[in-house]
Amino acid sequence: MSAPAAGRIAIVGGGPCGSLLAILLARRGFEPVVVERGPPFTAEQGGGRSINLALAARGIDALRRAGIDAYVRELMIPMRGRMIHDPKGGQRFLPYGQRATEEIYSVSRAALNVLLHRLAAERHGVEYRFHTRCVDVDAATGDAIVEAGGDRTRLDADVVFAADGAGSEARRALTAAGVIETHEQLLDHGYKELTIPAGRDGEFVLEPGALHIWPRGGFMLIALPNPDRSFTATLFLPHEGENSFAATGEREVDAFFRREFADTVPLIPALHRDYVSHMTGVLGTVSCRPWSRGKTLLIGDAAHAIVPFHGQGMNAAFEDCVVLDRLLEQRAADGSGDWPQLFADFERLRSPNTRAIAEMAIENYQEMRDEVRDAKFELRAALSFELERRFPGRFVPRYSMVMFHPDISYAEAQRRGVLQARIVRELTASADTLAGVDFARAAKLVETEL
Ligand SMILES: Cc1cc2nc3c(=O)[nH]c(=O)nc-3n(C[C@H](O)[C@H](O)[C@H](O)COP(=O)(O)OP(=O)(O)OC[C@H]3O[C@@H](n4cnc5c(N)ncnc54)[C@H](O)[C@@H]3O)c2cc1C
Repeated sequence: MSAPAAGRIAIVGGGPCGSLLAILLARRGFEPVVVERGPPFTAEQGGGRSINLALAARGIDALRRAGIDAYVRELMIPMRGRMIHDPKGGQRFLPYGQRATEEIYSVSRAALNVLLHRLAAERHGVEYRFHTRCVDVDAATGDAIVEAGGDRTRLDADVVFAADGAGSEARRALTAAGVIETHEQLLDHGYKELTIPAGRDGEFVLEPGALHIWPRGGFMLIALPNPDRSFTATLFLPHEGENSFAATGEREVDAFFRREFADTVPLIPALHRDYVSHMTGVLGTVSCRPWSRGKTLLIGDAAHAIVPFHGQGMNAAFEDCVVLDRLLEQRAADGSGDWPQLFADFERLRSPNTRAIAEMAIENYQEMRDEVRDAKFELRAALSFELERRFPGRFVPRYSMVMFHPDISYAEAQRRGVLQARIVRELTASADTLAGVDFARAAKLVETEL
């Protein structure tokens, strides 16, 4: 296999990860070919799969590295915090950060796919082969086998990046052949998307600068704004049991919404139609090792799919592309190594971090659906901001580290987050307000623990 400076590259999957990787590789002088099982992307795609995604600093950093952040900015709707909706219809805004730049962005998945494809194809000459599906990977060599128009062929490539998502065929094939070990941990909760259309005057019917949450303990509803002034709401429920997706009758669904999310009932006119016609998605964490075999490397969701509760899956996939690009940059500078070595380095650098965000994403589900309802949650959040003000750089709230600090790795955010949570819990154990916190003790704890 040739050195990373050269080689014919194929990318399986033209989703966010595959297309961004294609652009970064093209900027390094490679001529990647993207094979995508679906048809050419259109802005209308997305029904049934999460229609908008939260983009945060790690993702934006990656887009900047590829020289395309200015284009993506046109698609971004800022969300500065969570708007918590209580069962009585009351709303409370909890900011995500405390600096002007500390916001996340709602982005249409379909519009992003269209844009990344256009930039890759038109500005960088990347070839896309649509309706071309990877159906197998040769476990001896890592060659990808693709099917298009009924014909099966071996992809003509020296290197294959499998960016074919959470249900990766490449991963499945290599797992079946016994060369990769895969763990899939499915959540007993699923999700379903519902639409909150724009109002009669064409305006947003909810505050657009927030991610809306209706936390109800064992389940929740969330909503993110879209450029057409609608919101995409996502209902997260258990698959079975009380308050679950098992209920599908119109009266049951209507009664459930009137009981739990009464303020949304007038906002979702097609509630039952959407409820029965939109698929219930499954959620889970996928981990596997090793991430490569011969000429194939798994990347993005294909290597490490996570649950969506930290809004980081795509951001992490974009960060993968940055790490890979940095390794290529290093190799170009010193002429060292080959592709297998680069793949091994990539996995060594990335897997502790993707493991950390997978765990933090699961924890965040508990926080979003339950803990945000607790008055102590607000006190802990306020204290975290106060400690950040008093001890800048030393104490950074974990959510901020993950969402706003790409310079802090996921693993480091998780490690520091555990220590900080302990400090905040101790300081708020006997305080009900910020004024009641012992800040001399806080200073000592920050000094000794962080
Ligand atoms: C409900 C939900 C909400 C989410 N919200 C967020 C969020 O707010 N923020 C965030 O960062 N992430 C979020 N995510 C995660 C995010 O969607 C993924 O992490 C991201 O899409 C991963 O990108 P990818 O390119 O690796 O995979 P994908 O987006 O899955 O793209 C894979 C591509 O490969 C193609 N493909 C698949 N199989 C084959 C094959 N055999 N041959 C050829 N092509 C193939 C597919 O058609 C697709 O185009 C969410 C996920 C879900 C389910």
